[in-house]
Amino acid sequence: MMNSDSEENVAKLRNPPSGLSGRFRRAGCSHLDQVHDVTPSAQGCEECLKIGDEWVHLRLCLTCGHVGCCDDSKNKHATRHFRTTGHPIIASLEPGEEWLWCYVDEVPI
Ligand SMILES: [Zn+2]
Ligand SMILES: [Zn+2]
Ligand SMILES: [Zn+2]
Repeated sequence: MMNSDSEENVAKLRNPPSGLSGRFRRAGCSHLDQVHDVTPSAQGCEECLKIGDEWVHLRLCLTCGHVGCCDDSKNKHATRHFRTTGHPIIASLEPGEEWLWCYVDEVPI
């Protein structure tokens, strides 16, 4: 018997949204294969919530779904997440902001 659910998932992974691959190509970033369909891991910066600290803006890791705070926040957990895991692509979690950022190529996407 064929399992149509898992077939759909494979097709999804092999064909990321066409708009997204164009954006990565134009940005000169080759890390689209690190981008997955992730669910944000928390309602706020994971680490700041743990230590009861505050953040300015939130960033979402598109490889694993980690939520961290931006470089304007004193803890800079999103950047720290990249340094410890090597996950290169983040998205802004701010309402209305659609940009992505590649830490490796240091380009907006
Ligand atoms: Zn890149
Ligand atoms: Zn934080
Ligand atoms: Zn990550």
